[in-house]
Amino acid sequence: MLERFTLIPGTMAPPVLWYGTTLFVTGLICLVLALQIFLFLRQSPGAIALGLLLVALSWWDITYALYWIDAPAPNAQFWVDVTYVGVVSAPTLVFIFAIQISGLFETSWLLRKPFWFVMAIEPIVTLIALWTDPWHNLFFAGLRANYQGVILRGGLLFWSNVIYSYLLLLLSVIILVVGYARASGIFRKQLLMVLLSFAITWANSILFVAGLNPLPGADNTPFAFSIASALFAYALFRYRLLDVAPIARSVVIEQMKDGVLVLDANNRIVDINPAGKVWLPQAEIGVSLDRLRDQLPATLQQMPLDRDQRVEVMLEPSGRVLDIQVTQIYDQRRRLIGRLIVWREITEFKRLQAQLQRLANYDPLTGVYNRREFIRLANSELARAQRYQHALSLVLIDIDHFKIINDQFGHHTGDEALICFAASWMAEKRTHDIFARWGGEEFILLLPETDQHHARQLVERVRDKMLTKPMVAGNNRLIIKFSAGISAYTGSETFEQLAQRADLALYQAKQQGRNQTMIAELPQCEKAEPEQGQRSVH
Ligand code: GH3
Ligand code: MG
Ligand code: MG
Repeated sequence: MLERFTLIPGTMAPPVLWYGTTLFVTGLICLVLALQIFLFLRQSPGAIALGLLLVALSWWDITYALYWIDAPAPNAQFWVDVTYVGVVSAPTLVFIFAIQISGLFETSWLLRKPFWFVMAIEPIVTLIALWTDPWHNLFFAGLRANYQGVILRGGLLFWSNVIYSYLLLLLSVIILVVGYARASGIFRKQLLMVLLSFAITWANSILFVAGLNPLPGADNTPFAFSIASALFAYALFRYRLLDVAPIARSVVIEQMKDGVLVLDANNRIVDINPAGKVWLPQAEIGVSLDRLRDQLPATLQQMPLDRDQRVEVMLEPSGRVLDIQVTQIYDQRRRLIGRLIVWREITEFKRLQAQLQRLANYDPLTGVYNRREFIRLANSELARAQRYQHALSLVLIDIDHFKIINDQFGHHTGDEALICFAASWMAEKRTHDIFARWGGEEFILLLPETDQHHARQLVERVRDKMLTKPMVAGNNRLIIKFSAGISAYTGSETFEQLAQRADLALYQAKQQGRNQTMIAELPQCEKAEPEQGQRSVH
């Protein structure tokens, strides 16, 4: 024991129970923090590196504590040798942590696994050199003292490790400073906190070099590192990425089918739920969404995120439809701190909606417009014809003796005849003409920008085709004849009046033997006007 005190006079030497115990407790705290990080913060950038750093420091603290309480050991250097596992890992893990948390290397290989292996080389080589020193003397160069709590001198490999470690720490500071300069919002605060914590380790090193070590004979670096790392952990918890969003990462969000994506003000991904991951498998917390944009479907790439909006987007080529809602997130001082994007697939809903729309607007048997939709379209065509003083004709069509078809061939054949009849008109009409089933075996045709004579020509053309080319309905070939009434728009009447006149003309066509077209007379007042000059009276 005397040797230990005489080795470096005036310094602490084991056993120093209070020092050992303090180190031991610090080590335990580091271990608990590491566990917390592994359990609750695994997803955050840098969390794994920080967790491992805390484990390494815990190792450093506890084994060093065992040295200071003079725990039984196979030889005098045993505990310090074992401690070195933590000593060599710490700067490496600080460096990896700094890289991961800086936000500077989003897609770089520095964030991937192989980098860990590269970084593991130096600590492993150093440890092997330390443990095999008696054989090559390259680590201590014969300068090792048996009972020494601080290794201050050594050979080539000892100094290489010292320089390498400080270089890593220096690089870490530089990376954090640059990261801080580029970051914004919550990330900036987090990096500042990490940098300030880091200052503790540097302050300690400076004290040490200046000969102001408060614990002579002992290395207080594990203390400094442990405190700094505990503060790192605090920074991670305090400014943990989820705090950006005013939503809790609750079970609801985790389990909901809607994709939920939270971005910070710079569009960096702060949070994404499992449903969101299905659509954006490449999304990682901390990665900028802008970097993922070119992997998104074309329709989403151009979508602006800087204003609140709700849009329905059809994805090509799958045809799937997404309902996307973008909401800006502000803090209490109305500063933008992030964005919330929530989306859900509405493909099935849109399909049903379209189906409902079809049912509401189309005739289920023939597939042409139904009466309701026809009236809506006709009214807007009438308004247009009135505004631009265009001609417009309405044709009311009724199949002749349709009852006989039903009676002779059955209702089913009758249905098919109606389908063929409607299809023939659809094939003959111009694109902008509007054809609909008026009811039963009656159909209606609106011809914009067409006077009654041209309307009649079209109707007769269809009639000729039907007379020359029998329709195939069921196993039957049928010649279908029809009667038609045409009314030309006067420019002032309502649709009902126009339809009434067409109906009257159709009635006349039936009266006069069917299979023919009649043009409706103009309304009474329209005819009277030019003769009696009554326009001014109205
Ligand atoms: P007219 O020449 O005077 O018009 O004689 P018509 O037999 O065509 O006229 P009527 O109004 O007496 O009969 C129309 C028939 O059309 C009666 C009805 O059963 C039939 N009908 C109406 N809608 C449908 C349908 O959707 N399918 C079938 N198969 N028949 C229909
Ligand atoms: Mg009828
Ligand atoms: Mg009929």
